Amino acid sequence: MTVPHDRSAPRFTALTVLSLSAFIAIHLGSLSVFWLGVTSRDVALCVGLYVLRMFGITAGYHRYFAHRSYKTSRWFQFVLAWIGSMSIQKGVLWWAGLHRVHHRWSDTPRDLHSPTQRGILYAHVGWIVSPEHDETDLALIPDFAKYPELVWLNTYHWVPALVMALGCYALDGARGVVWGAGVSTVLLWHGTFTINSLSHVWGSRRYETTDTSRNNLLLALITLGEGWHNNHHHYMNSANQGFFWWEIDVSYYVLRALSLVGVVRDLRKPPAHVLTPRLAEVASQKLATVRAAAETKLAEAREAAESKLAEAREAVVEAKTAAETKLAEAREAAAEVKAVAEGKLAEAREAVVEAKTAAETKLAEARETLEQAVDEAAAPAPTTGT
Ligand SMILES: [Zn+2]
Ligand SMILES: [Zn+2]
Repeated sequence: MTVPHDRSAPRFTALTVLSLSAFIAIHLGSLSVFWLGVTSRDVALCVGLYVLRMFGITAGYHRYFAHRSYKTSRWFQFVLAWIGSMSIQKGVLWWAGLHRVHHRWSDTPRDLHSPTQRGILYAHVGWIVSPEHDETDLALIPDFAKYPELVWLNTYHWVPALVMALGCYALDGARGVVWGAGVSTVLLWHGTFTINSLSHVWGSRRYETTDTSRNNLLLALITLGEGWHNNHHHYMNSANQGFFWWEIDVSYYVLRALSLVGVVRDLRKPPAHVLTPRLAEVASQKLATVRAAAETKLAEAREAAESKLAEAREAVVEAKTAAETKLAEAREAAAEVKAVAEGKLAEAREAVVEAKTAAETKLAEARETLEQAVDEAAAPAPTTGT
């Protein structure tokens, strides 16, 4: 099996150049309606071929060949492939095979047309005109590659469009070609391409699929039901893509009508457990997510509070220790001051005692000296000369 999205070596073949030129020429040629004007027949041709070929793409290329969502006869499958080929979106086996790749690798680097991988313009139109994917890999679609008429139609996929253009010419001349094969085709292309571009960007998501698919009423109306793309990615094998009555799905209504007259059969529908329990599951998943987030926040808050508390406790212990240290230091300093004061007091007392003793000694000496002096004075004076 080749890798259909291999980007290494895009080869511009003559066919690539031809198809790219035709793509641009049909766009430019459609502008001639401004000179040709419009009649009710032109509008009928444009709208009729749009609706018919959109059905060929959605109910044929997509729901039947890519997804086998219903069964039909060999002749009607060829009719579906023929109508799909009239839309000028390359061969049926090429398209359906690559679409299977899209589902297998949705919104991953291996997806051919993921707007999240290579931008919305590439998802819209780049992938289909790019030479990267020109080859048809029949290994991707062996269940239909076994029909030689389909392989032939896949190779000569431009034949139905040519027949259509000739039919338009036969009906209404050049105006018929411009309106039927030109304007109608341009509208059809961009209508179909929205499924690969906008349906992965714009709309709501009912199911938590692994890709970015979305449901969108407007795109569902433009594409006859393909806009319920999130439903489709959730359960791709269903013949209906609108899962509920209010999800308008014109292709499915036509398939239902065809099944009533026996042209198609065994339309696959999503089983009940795929629809509603999934809704409940999504709701409970959301609830679980919210609960988990709340629990995480709570745990974080608790942890933060506990850590603050521990810090506060530590700070209190530190403050207490510091206060005790200061107190001890103060006590020590006071004791020192007291000892010094006591020393000084003792010294002072000693000095007082010494001074007192010295004074007493001096006093005693003075008294003695005085007494001596008194005694000497009182003694009779010695007679001189006798
Ligand atoms: Zn998709
Ligand atoms: Zn699909």
